[in-house]
Amino acid sequence: MQEVVVVGSVNADLVVKVDRRPAPGETVLGSDLVVHPGGKGANQAVAAARLGARTGIVGRVGDDGHGRLLRDALAADGVDLAHLATTPGPSGVALITVGPDGDNSIIVSPGANARVSPADVAAARDMIAGAAVVSFQLEVPLPAVQAAARTAAAAGGRVVLNLSPPASVPTDLLALCDPLVVNEHEAAYLLGGGEPGEPAAMARALLERGPHSVVVTLGADGVLVADASGAAAVPSPKVEAVDTTGAGDAFTAALCLRLARGDDLRAAAAYAARAGAAAVRRSGAQPSYPTPDELP
Ligand code: ADP
Repeated sequence: MQEVVVVGSVNADLVVKVDRRPAPGETVLGSDLVVHPGGKGANQAVAAARLGARTGIVGRVGDDGHGRLLRDALAADGVDLAHLATTPGPSGVALITVGPDGDNSIIVSPGANARVSPADVAAARDMIAGAAVVSFQLEVPLPAVQAAARTAAAAGGRVVLNLSPPASVPTDLLALCDPLVVNEHEAAYLLGGGEPGEPAAMARALLERGPHSVVVTLGADGVLVADASGAAAVPSPKVEAVDTTGAGDAFTAALCLRLARGDDLRAAAAYAARAGAAAVRRSGAQPSYPTPDELP
């Protein structure tokens, strides 16, 4: 039985640094290509496993070279791949250009991730139903997320949904979340767009949308957790930030691990903030994720 099962995306991140981005019809030279394993689902699975959680993933990679690389990266951290299917065609990729200021421009081609289906969830039923916590993001099709969340909740598992990338989700899915995890921008999106408001007010408004609990991540300012018993601010350790890519995934994975082991939401968030902070001290997403002895 797994402590944490992640139902989500697996991508190859193809990264090139450029002095400037090409205009339409123009060609520019960039740095050597660097290929990193990524995708929010795989990032969370690796982060949870590296912190010691028994972790499984439900998803799809393509039958290409990227698929093999992505599978190997998950296996290297001990993630259970029994329900990582291989699908004919390309794996998901993120085409990332990094500008001179470290700013990212990203195109995601979902590839195999777009084929994750309720049938995959049915095939992985025992793994999902046996998990203490099942974690979701929104980089695989919503019907698969809904089917898996229902399966997890019906079996008494805890559903954690990270609303990333932001998208509107049905009320019955929100009602299963415990917690819904959002950054300030995702929170503002779900509340109808516009600028992020005061975090405690946003958390209260999000609770009214139906989740059992809400976690709003606030970067270096830590997190705000809220449930029916009230709201609490949880600080993040002070660290020197080198690259914040994938911090939210590290945070959510660590939160799932501690919830699986019986922490209450506030204690789990305090631990997760340490994992998020650790992840910003090194570059990249998966390469930056800590082992337990590396937590600040
Ligand atoms: P996302 O990557 O989804 O936008 P955040 O940037 O809010 O998420 O980061 C998630 C968590 O990681 C934060 O709540 C915090 O605990 C930790 N974190 C992120 N950036 C920093 C930072 N600069 N210093 C310390 N902790 C950080």
